[in-house]
Amino acid sequence: MTQTQQDVLKASKEQCIFCKIVSGDIPSATIYEDDKVIAFLDINPVNAGHALVVPKEHYIVLPQLPDDLAMHLMKIVKYLSGAIFEMTGAHGINVYQNNGAAAGQEVPHVHFHVIPRRQGDQAIGEWKRNKIDPEQLKQIASEMGKNLKPIGSTVKLSSNTAVSKKKPKAKRKAKPVKLTKKRSA
Ligand code: AMP
Ligand code: ZN
Repeated sequence: MTQTQQDVLKASKEQCIFCKIVSGDIPSATIYEDDKVIAFLDINPVNAGHALVVPKEHYIVLPQLPDDLAMHLMKIVKYLSGAIFEMTGAHGINVYQNNGAAAGQEVPHVHFHVIPRRQGDQAIGEWKRNKIDPEQLKQIASEMGKNLKPIGSTVKLSSNTAVSKKKPKAKRKAKPVKLTKKRSA
């Protein structure tokens, strides 16, 4: 990580709401905790059981994570997505991870959303998808493949990779959430 990235990281840590949850300064509905990772329920759940899986150490975006922490975090995301499947009787699970305000990140501390879904719940909007010429697709892949740096290299982030400093607020009207019945075996 560059010095500038380290300075940005330090400044954002001081006001970070998830760091305050990790330190116990603000409460959370915690469902899992180990020495490196905590998982708690989102205060504005898309559906009941919507969890956030968070490294305890403060990093803003995914590429900043040390590889061993990223691997452990992903292991817990996998574990909790299975647990949430079972506990909520979900028909599906979305795992979301936003990096930067442009991608919808509001809390500047890396986190994965694990969201239980039910068939037809329309809880999350469709992506806008585009058509692309197959030749152009191949060309882009070739260009990207050639430009990959070795795994573990320092990543240069765009200066536009800002994360909103505003406190996150509920965008959706809160609706009653309840755990669904367990699926019968
Ligand atoms: P993102 O847009 O990916 O940054 O998502 C941040 C998520 O954090 C949002 O879904 C918020 O509802 C959630 N959130 C913000 N503050 C808290 C909090 N104190 N406890 C639990 N979830 C929170
Ligand atoms: Zn933090």
